[in-house]
Amino acid sequence: MSFLLPKATGESINLGIMGGTFDPIHIGHLVTAEEARQQFKLDHVIFMPAGTPPHKEQKYISPAEHRYIMTMLAVVDNPYFTVSRLEIENNQLSYTIDTVRRFFQIYKNGLNLYFITGADAILDIKTWKDYEELLEACSFIAASRPGYPFNKLKTIFGSAFAKIAKKIHFLEIPAMAISSTDIRRRIAEGKTIKYLTPEPVEQYIYKNKLYRQ
Ligand code: NAP
Repeated sequence: MSFLLPKATGESINLGIMGGTFDPIHIGHLVTAEEARQQFKLDHVIFMPAGTPPHKEQKYISPAEHRYIMTMLAVVDNPYFTVSRLEIENNQLSYTIDTVRRFFQIYKNGLNLYFITGADAILDIKTWKDYEELLEACSFIAASRPGYPFNKLKTIFGSAFAKIAKKIHFLEIPAMAISSTDIRRRIAEGKTIKYLTPEPVEQYIYKNKLYRQ
């Protein structure tokens, strides 16, 4: 894996994988990762830009290299954060279970793994590849805006809800009012995106003329 992971020492380690398309990364993602790190006592959070997300095959997303570089620019000042190229270098669809299996190959039994992503993405988890194995292997941290209808999960999982609920933790993040969709729209409309994403990311977007349509 061509990125700096904390060493596998055989001792127990708490890792967060921050999964997302990051098109582009923004302050809401960073606040989510930092909040998860603190609340769940994570030793490290590894941002994992998706290569080809399975549910977005028909949609245009920016080239993976741009999304990777913007993510690097955004996390560089946090010693607990790093970015992985694992999914973007894999030419196939980015299935979370494949990423999780890879981490267990590296860390074996010492690993407590948390997969952090948006609550909307996790509400679809029953459609993900091998989702039952995923729920056994790791915990999920689902970031939402305040007022999110958590009881949707109860409807989706029915009688299996009690078991699932132990593995999915919801984090309300007011900064998630910011969204990648809104940033892309604002740029296309010529509006400012100042303070919505770290300044180096903003400059990278302008320099590379991203999201102008
Ligand atoms: P998405 O559908 O683009 O995002 C759904 C919602 O979650 C959006 O509001 C999004 O806001 C938010 N979000 C996405 N990533 C987030 C993060 N890390 N922290 C906080 N909020 C986040 O979701 P996606 O980005 O394509 O996929 C999310 C993750 O789930 C990826 O790692 C993807 O590979 C994985 N996934 C796996 C499978 C599978 O294995 N079959 C299927 C679907 C998704 P923004 O648009 O502002 O980010």
